[in-house]
Amino acid sequence: MTNNEIWQAVLGEVELAVSPASFTTWFRNTSIIEFKDDAVIVSVPNGFAKEWLENKYNQFILKALRNFRENIRKVRCVVSAKNMQGVPRSQKKEVDSVLSGGEESLIDLRNTETSFQQAEGGHIGLNHRYTFENFIVGSNNELAHAACLAVSRNSGRTYNPLFIYGGVGLGKTHLLQSVANSILTQDPKKRIIYSTAEFFTNRYIDMVKNQQAREFKKSYLNTDLLIIDDIQFIAGKEKTQEEFFHIFNTLYQLNKQIILSSDRPPKAIATLEDRLRSRFEGGMIADVSRPDLETRIAILQHKAAQKDFEIENEALNYIASNIQHNIRELEGALSRIIVTCELKNAEPTLGYVKKTLSDIIHSGRKKGIGFKQVLEAVADFYNVNHQELVNRSRRKDIVRPRQVAMYLMREELRASFPGIGDQLGGRDHSTAMHAYEKISREVEQDETLEQELQNIKAKIYNNG
Ligand code: ADP
Ligand code: MG
Repeated sequence: MTNNEIWQAVLGEVELAVSPASFTTWFRNTSIIEFKDDAVIVSVPNGFAKEWLENKYNQFILKALRNFRENIRKVRCVVSAKNMQGVPRSQKKEVDSVLSGGEESLIDLRNTETSFQQAEGGHIGLNHRYTFENFIVGSNNELAHAACLAVSRNSGRTYNPLFIYGGVGLGKTHLLQSVANSILTQDPKKRIIYSTAEFFTNRYIDMVKNQQAREFKKSYLNTDLLIIDDIQFIAGKEKTQEEFFHIFNTLYQLNKQIILSSDRPPKAIATLEDRLRSRFEGGMIADVSRPDLETRIAILQHKAAQKDFEIENEALNYIASNIQHNIRELEGALSRIIVTCELKNAEPTLGYVKKTLSDIIHSGRKKGIGFKQVLEAVADFYNVNHQELVNRSRRKDIVRPRQVAMYLMREELRASFPGIGDQLGGRDHSTAMHAYEKISREVEQDETLEQELQNIKAKIYNNG
């Protein structure tokens, strides 16, 4: 295996273990430079990533790496900008921020052939794998799929703007980029801009700073199709919203197609300006939701076939039954099976799949972990008495750990909300539900909390 292949496999493992946000933040743009004695030397883009990979994530990396190189004991990082050689400074910054625009640019990067191009005034970071052909249609996404397909055939007229919303890892970016890829296949001269809202915002701020506000606007007007991914990001950013509003209106009047995605519907984006909200609502709105079991199986079958990987339906069924919320995770689990089977020359039987995925699927239940272990690990981590978590105390330093305990009972033990309430001093199920939702929301945003939970889980499973 080449260093690149090994690193891809390691990243695949790490991705399953950390939150998507952490993964994008810390592992984007990394690669193995070489193995030296008992150390792996990893190239990272900046000092922050170096610190995190060497100190916080070294155990994850080592664990995954030792499957391939048993003797490795240390992770050493070197800050390097090797991908950027020969790129002028000003452009480099732009490339940097395109590449940090979101998860999708990450996927581009993880392919050796980065399909990043810089179009005149625009930014195309398209992943060529995101096509309609590779998209499995189920009842969870058929409306969004149909709308995107219609737009790719009749841009600017049918549904404008088109607004796609839904949770993480459910195919929004895939659909958005499928439209772009499809139009470019029909007519390579079409001008298309695909950008995450985050990139849009950062670039706007940069250009205003350099007194280039007019050029900024111009660059977005010179297009036939404007796609902005994760538009919820501009909420609350007044100046960016204002600028986007003008760009939107101009393009709209010119009958140019606009496609937007978001993690929630327009009316639920709290600090979105009213006039923008009503613009978004003026077109076509479609959602993507969690796929049902049949769709999940179909997705796995498609991905396995693409990689020429033979695996029995029984085994696929098991994966699909146990990973329900996020298609990215579904893919991740399958990749892990494929990689480890190839390495160990193993057959992907049901038993093998169960064993290989046991730590991500119902981990607690499997290993005989129960309420007691969760309570103790949480109490231990936060340095409180576990009886206090059960009692009625409303002290702030107790309330928070209690919520974390409820969250972990749900997440790790798949316990019911009434069951969790019972365990914590006979509380109402709605309290448990509220705690679970609160922590779920926060963990998406909060790196420190994410790390805390990882540490507590390590305690629960007794390996940290
Ligand atoms: P989102 O943008 O909603 O967070 P993505 O579009 O990034 O989600 O999708 C996550 C992963 O799941 C991608 O690799 C994508 O190709 C895959 N995926 C999502 N939906 C489907 C589907 N219906 N068929 C095939 N693959 C899918
Ligand atoms: Mg996305």
